[in-house]
Amino acid sequence: MSPDSAQQSNTPKIEPEEILEGILDWVEAESPTTDKDAVNKVADKVQGLYDGLGLAIERTPGRDGFGDIIRARTENASGEKGILVLCHIDTVHPIGVKDGALKIRREGDEVYGPGIYDMKAGAYLPYYAYRHLQRLGRKTSLPVTFLYVSEEEVGSPMSQEFIEEEARKAKYVLVTEPARDGGKVVVARKGVGRFTMTITGRPAHAGARYEDGRSAISELANQIKAIDALVDLERGVTTNVGIISGGTAVNVVARDVVAEIDLRVLTKADGEEMTAKILGLKAQNPDVTVEVTGGMNRPPMEATDASMKLFEHAKACAAEAGFELEATETTGGGSDGNFTAALGVPTLDGLGADGEGAHTLEEKIYFSSLEPRAKMWVRLLETLE
Ligand SMILES: [Zn+2]
Repeated sequence: MSPDSAQQSNTPKIEPEEILEGILDWVEAESPTTDKDAVNKVADKVQGLYDGLGLAIERTPGRDGFGDIIRARTENASGEKGILVLCHIDTVHPIGVKDGALKIRREGDEVYGPGIYDMKAGAYLPYYAYRHLQRLGRKTSLPVTFLYVSEEEVGSPMSQEFIEEEARKAKYVLVTEPARDGGKVVVARKGVGRFTMTITGRPAHAGARYEDGRSAISELANQIKAIDALVDLERGVTTNVGIISGGTAVNVVARDVVAEIDLRVLTKADGEEMTAKILGLKAQNPDVTVEVTGGMNRPPMEATDASMKLFEHAKACAAEAGFELEATETTGGGSDGNFTAALGVPTLDGLGADGEGAHTLEEKIYFSSLEPRAKMWVRLLETLE
């Protein structure tokens, strides 16, 4: 029997309007990663809700200008390995977009708002599902820890250690990042590397003393060609020089230039190889210095037998909820799921709401995805063992 087929009027039901109301309360509280106080306002809401369900709350103050980390735990007297539900409460959108370029609004099935898709809707769903189970008087088979981090959008530099600490205590990790193209979940993700290249040349007046100059910008042009040459689409390796800055005036041979480089790989081995190549880039002009720092920021999340089994289980839960759950081809995006998968813990990502436009001013969810996804969450939490 499906969990919600009970028809008595006093049996709690999953109400999509109520889910949306809860999500929008979190979306209204805009929370760019870099605004600690704003992020903490969402942390307050998360804490309040789980507190209301009687879970044990652990709130870890943020460091380095980031907001706080919330952990809410169900009872676990025996200390057995359980389910880690992994969420983030920060967004990439600056304060104020909800009143301007990304107004919070509903247009038919589409609900727009900053961070609604990535990932406030996803972060709210497991809370709602767990509350629903409680109201039905049912329990999860395994203990559950709900972890809400505050700086995922910049690579979780502060919370990585907490994520890994919790993952080591987990049998499964469920990540509430947005569902992909058509509601798909993610069983494999590329790893992400980040590098900074600093080039120092020799400045000179571009007219009077041109011969004395050694242009850092010209050197960078050559370096970019070398970096682009590392791309191997068939192997799933990409590099991207995404930000460059340098130079002081149009009539000055530039002394300084800085470039930021993004690397994506499918396997750990590729990550090591490409990292060595990028760190080993040498100046092509002997009078100029090139220095590269950085490394892998998130390891790849490779699909394993155990993670595929977890996917099959989620698929069965989705079927009970009335929809077919599919997995994407490997996605290029990284998430905190990469950290947990790297520890060998079966990890399923993309369990948030369906929608579109993460990190853009067209960010939205599909209202119609909330009810089936919430039902899937109820069954996932209840049946994983
Ligand atoms: Zn996200």
